[in-house]
Amino acid sequence: MLKVALRNNHSLYQISSHSLVRHSSHGSATTQQQSGPGHFGFYRQVELFYDRAAKILEDKLVDDMVKSKLSDDMKRKKVRGILKIIKPCNHVLEIRFPVRRDNGELHIIEAYRAQHSQHRTPCKGGIRYSMDVNLDEVKALAALMTYKCACVDVPFGGGKAGVKINPKEWSEAELERITRRLTVELAKKGFIGPGIDVPAPDMGTGEREMAWIADTYASTVGWEDIHANGCVTGKPILVGGIHGRTSATGRGLYHGVDNFINEASYMGTVGLLPGLAGKTFIVQGFGNVGLHSTRYLTRHGAKCIGVLEWDAAIVNPEGIDPKELEDYKLERGTIKGFPGAKPYDKQPKEELLCEECDILVPAASERQITSENAGRIKARIIAEGANGPTTPEADVILMKNNVLVIPDLYINAGGVTVSYFEWLKNLSHVSYGRLTFKYQRDTNYALLDSVQRSLESKFGRTGGKIPIVPSENFFKRMAGASEKDIVHSGLEQTMEKSARAIMQTATRYDLGLDIRTAAYVNAIEKIYKVYVSAGITFGS
Ligand code: NAD
Repeated sequence: MLKVALRNNHSLYQISSHSLVRHSSHGSATTQQQSGPGHFGFYRQVELFYDRAAKILEDKLVDDMVKSKLSDDMKRKKVRGILKIIKPCNHVLEIRFPVRRDNGELHIIEAYRAQHSQHRTPCKGGIRYSMDVNLDEVKALAALMTYKCACVDVPFGGGKAGVKINPKEWSEAELERITRRLTVELAKKGFIGPGIDVPAPDMGTGEREMAWIADTYASTVGWEDIHANGCVTGKPILVGGIHGRTSATGRGLYHGVDNFINEASYMGTVGLLPGLAGKTFIVQGFGNVGLHSTRYLTRHGAKCIGVLEWDAAIVNPEGIDPKELEDYKLERGTIKGFPGAKPYDKQPKEELLCEECDILVPAASERQITSENAGRIKARIIAEGANGPTTPEADVILMKNNVLVIPDLYINAGGVTVSYFEWLKNLSHVSYGRLTFKYQRDTNYALLDSVQRSLESKFGRTGGKIPIVPSENFFKRMAGASEKDIVHSGLEQTMEKSARAIMQTATRYDLGLDIRTAAYVNAIEKIYKVYVSAGITFGS
């Protein structure tokens, strides 16, 4: 039995290979059985993270009800009641439909969509194409989306879909048939629509699939809905997408790391000097999130020294060039043989996760950092690009080893943040900056002219016109903000504001490096307030 204990002001967790026992500050104990030997199911994993935060938040929510005439007992019952409403997954759709393969064979497709919460609508969350898809996974990912949206103030409930296929084994025409039929199935059951449920890309899907979904929806059930294009985000620009969506999750991850790595107190605890420049990192998964995270971290001075993919692992202590690796992978479909690095020679190749580096970026899939490898991880910071890459058991081990885990619900929220901007653009039917672009530019020129005239009226024009030269920064901004500028600044602001709020909560509850719990606490409190505002008053 592996025994790990973590103490803070609020709780003590003990994890064995068969159960997780939580002893609360009130002295009660609960035990959750695992779904199989050695680990919890993924959905249970998210529930456990939720429980950990909800327990910490409960007393505060009761204390906040100072104006209520309810007895203390009723206040607690009300708080616990709402916390119980937030947790479960509200709706799950399980679908089977046939698809004709190019060779004439019929194949039955298994797919799911989960809507975790409608405290805000629409529901929002990606569509994943992977052989690992199952009901437990989509429910877990949908729940995570609810907390992620709340964490970064995106006003959506959580959703997620999965199709159990390996997209590499299907032709483009077959994938199109699957995606279009899936859209119709979702629409028939109220699981897609700009005001109901809005999917986005996830593992194995991208702009192409989102375009098929938008087109199918708009030309069938959405034919008379002027907002039909807002039924999905992550679309190509020409069919209603937004600049910066494809790279948003990686860009957001960079901002998230930057916010924490510049905090001297956190860096002191993990044993690093503040600042991203010169830090080394290893990435697992070189798809959308892994590639763009690598691009932005590299651009800001960090060095990628290892990449782990499903079929190969490569290393280069001098740094791996993200653009060259992207081009190589696009051409060959693999990172194997990339000339800008050496093959990683240890077996199994997953040992790369445990190699010396400052930052580890798991950006492939869930449950990669477990009780088996967490104790050997040498990175001082883990930036969870993937959803759910760390199991609860591993989380405890990492905290005990003073590793800063920047959790998924915050650090990979850039994608959903920019999806929100795209959805708003679709509803308003105008691109950002379109109406103000010229006016803003003219105003800036008028401002310079006004300054010049004022100076000339005071000092005269002897010696010629007084030149007013805008600074380089102002000159760049004179022409007004493009859609890309607005998206980038909106994303940066979201990541910074959310990081500040999470750090404040971590301090308030004395959570130390338990940033995950702080992020969950913030998310749950916001959702709780929505329910309270919606009138769940218990007569108070
Ligand atoms: P993707 O399909 O574009 O890329 C995933 C990559 O991981 C692929 O290159 C794949 O070959 C690789 N991979 C798969 N299994 C692996 C393994 N066992 N070891 C190493 N590499 C492996 O998917 P993505 O969109 O980049 O998503 C990756 C993760 O990030 C998922 O957990 C997803 O839910 C999460 N995420 C994605 C977004 C987004 O905007 N795409 C947003 C938030 C979170």
